[in-house]
Amino acid sequence: MERKIRILVVEDEAPIRNGLMDVLVYHGYEVDEAADGPTGLEKSLTGTFDLILLDIMLPGLDGYEICNRIRSRDREQPIIMLTAKTSDEDIIQGLSLGADDYIAKPFSVAQLVLRIQAVLRRSRIGVDMEHHIRLGDGIEVDTRNLCGCRGQETLSFTRREVEILQYLSANSERPVSRDELLSKLWGYSRSMDIETRTVDIHIAKLRRKIEPIPSAPRHLVTVRGAGYRLLPG
Ligand code: CA
Repeated sequence: MERKIRILVVEDEAPIRNGLMDVLVYHGYEVDEAADGPTGLEKSLTGTFDLILLDIMLPGLDGYEICNRIRSRDREQPIIMLTAKTSDEDIIQGLSLGADDYIAKPFSVAQLVLRIQAVLRRSRIGVDMEHHIRLGDGIEVDTRNLCGCRGQETLSFTRREVEILQYLSANSERPVSRDELLSKLWGYSRSMDIETRTVDIHIAKLRRKIEPIPSAPRHLVTVRGAGYRLLPG
């Protein structure tokens, strides 16, 4: 029998936590829970979870810090942050710590399940895709280990950054629109302002890593009115 997918829910508000657990169990997932920051961190680091749903405002230790601590140990752990905060600054901070996605509270059950499925699907697809991407200027990306080099310089990437590079690399003959990236990688069915910004934030972060001059990209270029294109080396 196939192993059940395990999800950890880190959320201090009991009604939300219990609601999430009910939904996840109903959809066939095996679920564990933590009601405060320290318990969430301990379970995250000692257990094996296919996905962690992580609230931001938690007693004891906040979700940003937990995400940071998980990432310093495990760059591949899929994490979705649950947030009531929606200001851009919060989103930028969360993404820079390497969360795979965000869900803003209140969220619909259907939306939640779709986003969970998308993150889980990507974390499996990633395993089967090309393991090395080579660009000009001596840039090489090791997609399995989320690292790379640019000449003598060592680079590290988040899972989502690598997925963007893989997707653009697999479609390098054409520009890829933000909507397509949102749909294929994030699992969104339609774009909204905040989500389009999410793509741009990731592209900007990637350019700071792979472009000798981020403001004048040569590898990850913008095609006006069409989207982004990765030029093979
Ligand atoms: Ca909370």
